[in-house]
Amino acid sequence: MKKIQFNNFFYQYKILIIITLLLFIGFFTTSFFSYKIATDLAKNELKYKSLPLSSDNVYSEIQRDILKPNLVSSLMAQDTFMINWMIDGEQDIKQITTYLSTIMNKYNTSSSFLVSDKTKNYYYPKGILKEMSPNNKRDIWFYRVKNIVDEYESNIDIDLAANDSITIFTNYKVKDFNGNFLGATGVGLKTSHVSNLLKTYKEKYNHEIYLINKDNKILISSKDKQDTYSKDNFMHKVINTFNKNDLSTQEYYKNSEKYILNIRYIDELNLYLCVEAKEGYFTKELEETFYINILIFSIIILIIMVFIILYIKRQQEILKNIAKTDKLTSLQNRNNFDSIFEGLFNSKRKDEKDLTILIFDIDNFKKINDEFGHLVGDKVLIEVANIFKSTFRNSDILVRWGGDEFVALLPKIKEEKAYRLTKKLSQNINNNETLFNLLKQKITISVGLHSKKDETSKEELFSKADKNLYQAKQEGRDKIVY
Ligand code: GH3
Ligand code: MG
Repeated sequence: MKKIQFNNFFYQYKILIIITLLLFIGFFTTSFFSYKIATDLAKNELKYKSLPLSSDNVYSEIQRDILKPNLVSSLMAQDTFMINWMIDGEQDIKQITTYLSTIMNKYNTSSSFLVSDKTKNYYYPKGILKEMSPNNKRDIWFYRVKNIVDEYESNIDIDLAANDSITIFTNYKVKDFNGNFLGATGVGLKTSHVSNLLKTYKEKYNHEIYLINKDNKILISSKDKQDTYSKDNFMHKVINTFNKNDLSTQEYYKNSEKYILNIRYIDELNLYLCVEAKEGYFTKELEETFYINILIFSIIILIIMVFIILYIKRQQEILKNIAKTDKLTSLQNRNNFDSIFEGLFNSKRKDEKDLTILIFDIDNFKKINDEFGHLVGDKVLIEVANIFKSTFRNSDILVRWGGDEFVALLPKIKEEKAYRLTKKLSQNINNNETLFNLLKQKITISVGLHSKKDETSKEELFSKADKNLYQAKQEGRDKIVY
């Protein structure tokens, strides 16, 4: 049943449904392509502009941070007091610690140090921190500096003398006046500035930034929790295959989310600077806009469709009414009669067992037309129809059959009552004042009447009433035959 209803609906509004579908497909396609283009632009913007820009900015900030300790360390390495103190055999430790603490305070560095190659002592503002050993992993830097060609190196490392905080060190070679290596000196600057910078970038652009050393250890990152990453981590693989002269952008998936990674090597610090962004974060808004657009459009289309369907239904109703109404008398015409007759004739309802059919025809109507003209004839037809309507119930089916012939289907009514009403109709027409004033003579009708008994078809019932009408005409008119 539902299926039939749906098929019917589809058939009735086929064109409307096709137009709606076409509109929807059209809108969806254009929206989808705009969304695609916008997301591609956003992705490119991220990959080729925003990520490299963050990387550049962080890089130049780091370079600026390196510059100051570099200058101070260079100054220390050239200081004749320090060189002479070492050549003289590192006698008075108080002298060198005072010197180191003066440097630290004056230049506001987080640490200052001197390591002697001869005694292997590590001097810092409070005295001797430790003795250096090539076997200690944390002391390797000193032996490295001793062997480098350059005068200095910078690195980011953990500061032993300052609670193991991450510090940018600049280690300068100290040489005697003949150029022989005496030791290494320099200052350390805490990287809180750099790590704050990384956090700012994260807040501003939602980029995750890492500084990773050559041992694949994350030294500083924009993350609050400084985590380490495993060996199968993508970044680990990228760094291991990364060509130090390159600036590269790579894409990879983590927990089925796409990430873009910009990576560069900072030669001065022997570090990798990695800027990472989750692509979905940058296209999320576009995706949401796309879905909202589709939703709004669908709602609008739906509302329009409902309005159009309601409008069509109303128009169809009006047309249907026009089609089944007789223009002159406003009674029903024959168009609808058959289906109603069929329904009443075959009704199994107990209260619809009784059914009478009545056919009447105005007597000598041709003469009225001839004598008074068609316009008066029309007025007679309209008045007769009005009397017809006022005599019977609203639920009775009253039809102008054509010309001056009328038919009534009277359900749920006994034969005698139908006869009485028919007689009344005839009298009402005979005695109608409007008709008399119009023609100055009485109008009569001939009626054929028949109530359903054992007829097997509605045609049989109709033809019996029709025969009765014929008989009424034959027997001199102004008569009801039943
Ligand atoms: P009878 O008593 O045998 O019915 O004689 P009659 O003259 O009425 O003959 P009949 O019923 O056959 O004639 C119907 C006439 O009604 C013929 C036609 O010119 C006229 N007629 C049909 N439709 C209209 C109409 O809409 N308006 C008017 N004015 N006349 C109509
Ligand atoms: Mg007639």
